[in-house]
Amino acid sequence: MTESKNERTMIECGAPVDYENLMNSAQALSDRYPFLSVTYMGTSILGRGIPMLSIGEGRQKGVMYVGCHHGMEWITSAVLLKFIGELCESVLHGRKTYGINTAHMLRSRTVHVIPQLNVDGANIQIHGAEDCILRERLLSMNGSEDFSHWQANARGVDLNHNYDAGFYEYKKIEAEAGILGGCATRFSGESPESEPEVASLCSLLRFSSDISMVLTLHSQGEEIYYSSGGMTAPKSVAAARVLSRLSGYKLEEAEGMASYGGLTDWCIRSLNIPSFTIECGKGENPLPISDFPDIYSRLREALFTAPILS
Ligand SMILES: [Zn+2]
Repeated sequence: MTESKNERTMIECGAPVDYENLMNSAQALSDRYPFLSVTYMGTSILGRGIPMLSIGEGRQKGVMYVGCHHGMEWITSAVLLKFIGELCESVLHGRKTYGINTAHMLRSRTVHVIPQLNVDGANIQIHGAEDCILRERLLSMNGSEDFSHWQANARGVDLNHNYDAGFYEYKKIEAEAGILGGCATRFSGESPESEPEVASLCSLLRFSSDISMVLTLHSQGEEIYYSSGGMTAPKSVAAARVLSRLSGYKLEEAEGMASYGGLTDWCIRSLNIPSFTIECGKGENPLPISDFPDIYSRLREALFTAPILS
C-alpha cells in the first residue's frame, strides 16, 4: 500500500503511548474518519476514560482487539492505533488490503479496538507516580521511585490475572510465590473483576452478542496463545494457525502462572469464543519504541485478516 504524507494517520510512533498521546491519537482518528466511532468502554481507578474505537456494521460478527493490559506494554497500543488508522484509510479509499475489500468486510463485521486497557498503569510506567493522587500508596507497593517495571493498575492489581478463569487456583500459586497484596506485577486482586478496567470489559463482552473473537496484545515473545488449561473454543485452532503463518509467530499453550486469570482464559472458558494472546516483539520489556516498525510490519497482515476468520 502506498501512502502520501497527508494520508498518514498521526500514529507514527516516535514516543511512548501515554494517556495524552492515546487521547490525541483517538481524537485525530475520529476527526479524520467520520465513520469511526470513539466511545469510552469504562473508567480506570484514577478516573480516566478508556477509549474504544469501533468501525463496521456487523450485527452478528465482531472482533475485539485489546492492547496494554500491562504498564510496560504500551507498544501494543501503538500497534493497535496504527492498525485502526490503516483500516479506516483502506475503507475511506475503497482499497483492497491483502486482497480483502475492507469496506465490504465491514458491512457484515464490526471491529472494536481498545488500544490501552490499563491507562493508569501505562502512565505510571512512563511518567512515575510524582503527580498521582495515589503516590504514597504506589511508592509503598513499588518499593522505590523507579516505576519503569510497573505492570499493574493504580491499585497494584495485575489486570491480566483479574478475570474469573481459574482465579482461586491462581490465588494459591500467587501466595506460594510470596505475592500477598498490591504490587508491580502478578497480584490478581481481592476477587475476580474487582478492578473497574476488567469489570467494564467483561460487562461489554457479556452483553455484546456480536463479538465472536478477541485478540489481546501483550509484549514480548513473538508467540500466539490460543488455549486455556487445555481447552479451546470452536474454530480457534484453525484461526490460530492462520495468524501464526501470517505473522511468523509461534503457536504456544500457556503454562504455570501465565495460564490463569487472563482475558484469553476467560473468553475461552466463559464465553467459548476464539481468543488469542499475541506476544508482540522480542526482547526485554519495556520494548523500545524503535522496535515498533518491525513489530507492526510482522503483525499487519494477521491483524487485517483476523475479522474474516471470525
Ligand atoms: Zn502482558
